[in-house]
Amino acid sequence: MITRLTADRQACAWQTALAEAITDPEALIRRLNLDPGLLSAARLAAQRFRLQVPESYVSRMHPGEPHDPLLRQVLPLQGEFEAAPGFVEDPVGDLDAMAAPGVIQKYAGRALLITTGACAIHCRYCFRRHYPYGQASAGRSRWPETLAWLRSRPDIHEVILSGGDPLMLTDGELAAMTRDLARIDHLRTLRVHTRLPVILPERIGQDLIDWLTGTRLRPVMVIHANHAQELDASTCSALAALDRAGVRLFNQAVLLRGVNDSVAALGDLGEALFESGVQPYYLHLLDPVSGAAHFAVKEAPALAIMKALAAQQPGYLLPRLVREIPGAPGKSSLTEAGYHT
Ligand SMILES: *Cc1c(COP(=O)(O)O)cnc(C)c1O
Ligand code: SF4
Repeated sequence: MITRLTADRQACAWQTALAEAITDPEALIRRLNLDPGLLSAARLAAQRFRLQVPESYVSRMHPGEPHDPLLRQVLPLQGEFEAAPGFVEDPVGDLDAMAAPGVIQKYAGRALLITTGACAIHCRYCFRRHYPYGQASAGRSRWPETLAWLRSRPDIHEVILSGGDPLMLTDGELAAMTRDLARIDHLRTLRVHTRLPVILPERIGQDLIDWLTGTRLRPVMVIHANHAQELDASTCSALAALDRAGVRLFNQAVLLRGVNDSVAALGDLGEALFESGVQPYYLHLLDPVSGAAHFAVKEAPALAIMKALAAQQPGYLLPRLVREIPGAPGKSSLTEAGYHT
């Protein structure tokens, strides 16, 4: 009874925090004592892709600091209107890789499910910012078709819950989904890609841990943290709870100009992840999505940063620098050039 009450209270807490997220550029600018001159561009850019950021994430930003690495990830800027050749609406070819309702299958053995279009935060660099979610998610009504497709594919061993952010669904919905997946014999691993342990750590409650670890499927979670400042005591305890429950934790980050494009920032991120029990996995070059060109870091400086990083920290903290090339059989590694040489 006591656990039940605690779980319910937790569910309320994250849903309330989401409902109260800042969506008005003026409120964000006021909350952080920023130059009101930023407002008109922020309003315009937010019309294309809405501003959305929960208070718990805002509280980790430094007031009065327009270059704050967390603020830059969420504040709509004039730069989003710059035309940039090669920056397109569907940069990774997801719409061509739809195998069944809500299923993207590009790589051997793994299938990715678009479970929802919703996210707790709107990241300005997001490659799915123009994604037609309504038509594309593995929604309730077409779920039997999705399951039938998975059953017909014995070569698939891992299901990746993605979105949007899958942890925007309720634990009840996710528990039901997971139970259905666990009944498919050839599936072995359940992977969740989510930014919620970072953005809204109160989302990680006992009910979540119960469905994630409660079947025969091996639980893996890939969190998306881009900067050490995103990780604080509350994210650390959420991640520790997952770690204790046996969930294998990895991080993938996006290399973003003005956010984490330095040896110091990435070194600190690796250390902070390690302290939270999370293994650095991928560092993505930005997908060239229209509206995000101002975040792009070119290949040569990216490799130079990796080389310097490799020279100063243990290999197990070094993420793999990758980019996504439509049609490739996996993420394409940029390490071949060799940042040790
Ligand atoms: C990135 C991605 C995966 C996972 O790739 P890993 O290298 O296993 O992390 C799977 N499917 C799709 C469609 C992806 O974009
Ligand atoms: S949480 Fe992920 S999917 Fe959602 S806006 Fe951010 S980068 Fe995009």
